Amino acid sequence: MSRPRIGFVGLGQMGRPMATRLAEAGYPLTVFDAAPFAPIGSATSATALEGVAGVDVLILMLPNSAVVTGVLDELAPRLSPGTLVVDMSSSEPLQTRALAARLSERGLRFVDAPVSGGVRGAIAGSLAVMAGGDPGDLDELRPLLGVLGKKILEVGPVGSGHAAKALNNLVSAATMSVTVEALQLGAAFGIAPETMNAVLNSSSGRSNTSENKVTQFMLDGSFASGFALQLMAKDIRIAVDLARSLDRPAEISDRVAEQWSRIAAEVTPKTDHTQMYDLIGDPK
Ligand code: NAD
Repeated sequence: MSRPRIGFVGLGQMGRPMATRLAEAGYPLTVFDAAPFAPIGSATSATALEGVAGVDVLILMLPNSAVVTGVLDELAPRLSPGTLVVDMSSSEPLQTRALAARLSERGLRFVDAPVSGGVRGAIAGSLAVMAGGDPGDLDELRPLLGVLGKKILEVGPVGSGHAAKALNNLVSAATMSVTVEALQLGAAFGIAPETMNAVLNSSSGRSNTSENKVTQFMLDGSFASGFALQLMAKDIRIAVDLARSLDRPAEISDRVAEQWSRIAAEVTPKTDHTQMYDLIGDPK
């Protein structure tokens, strides 16, 4: 498909820079968010959800499966058969499969294509995209996804992208938990967190947290990565729910889920996930 007409729903921390890149790449684009939003370049701003109906590809970048399902329940009857629905949110794989099956009955195609790389990656177009769906549909989407990400990983059938994303964030969160714990323990022993993080980054304990989050968002007190703590807690919950549904043990993952769920219940939707640096050291 060359230059498909794109509808884009969800212009938050991630969706807005992603939609901006698509507009800048010349795609005919119609955008919508439930909250008031500023126009995006050449894109048409829809004033209601139904304004994105007449498109070839519908991209969703929404908080979770419940919101995605609500939006598609409303919109699906207005989409033409053959429309390719692409859920780039971090959604629940089993709900994604059920949703894709329902949409398929209406002749709608579905690909899950969640991303990793944060707001910086969304702005730079350097996201990792993990895609689940029909290989032909993924081929069709490649040029478009290439505007948003540098690595487009085909993971498997529908739902596999969402499963892979939740598992990635489980690893990311667990690494953050233990990294922050080590920094706090080091500090209690008299090692400055800056020094301890330099040790990690020069040694086998280094991670995405130690390399890209500790100095950048934690030690300077900015906590401004743009990824909400409650969204990360949601992703970890999706991963451990997956373990339950597969009847697989997940001992460490369950501990990580308990910790993030407890802290997520005590913060606001705006609290950044990097604030774990402050919150983890003070268990109630
Ligand atoms: P966000 O909360 O900043 O944005 C979500 C947007 O959806 C908001 O603008 C909100 O108004 C809109 N919205 C909510 N309900 C709606 C509805 N019914 N109709 C239309 N719009 C609606 O979240 P985000 O950080 O952009 O994350 C979006 C998704 O991407 C989440 O699933 C998140 O887990 C995932 N994600 C986020 C990051 C990150 O760094 N922020 C990175 C990778 C993946």
